Amino acid sequence: MSDTNAPSTDADDLADLTDEEWRERLSEEEYRVLRESGTEARFSGEYVDHLPEDGEYRCAACDEVLFDAGTKYESGCGWPAFYAAEEDSVTTTLDTSHGMRRTEVRCASCDSHLGHVFDDGPEPTGKRFCINSVAMEYEE
Ligand SMILES: [Zn+2]
Repeated sequence: MSDTNAPSTDADDLADLTDEEWRERLSEEEYRVLRESGTEARFSGEYVDHLPEDGEYRCAACDEVLFDAGTKYESGCGWPAFYAAEEDSVTTTLDTSHGMRRTEVRCASCDSHLGHVFDDGPEPTGKRFCINSVAMEYEE
């Protein structure tokens, strides 16, 4: 029998996780950022000054690849910044919380909060994906 239709992806299961289950899977800080749209303190994250030649950054909640290390750059904003996300890896929505109009970035696979995207990034995209370190895991 073919197993091409087998439900294999973690992401499908993740969509059904309860808050309680997320709390068990994630650290307190990860839960606060990823599931409660929190923001880590400026310049506090482990990947702020992390500029590897290659590798990739994966979602800390579901392990999907989000950003290629080649798109990471030094923005000086205090959080890891990328000028592009991997294709179809993230979704964006308007966020009007805290009296600001920002574009929120979420993981397309598990709908966890990652950070925000701004229009002041470098070429070739002009985008600055400002992402919490705690929302990602770097892999060489
Ligand atoms: Zn995810």
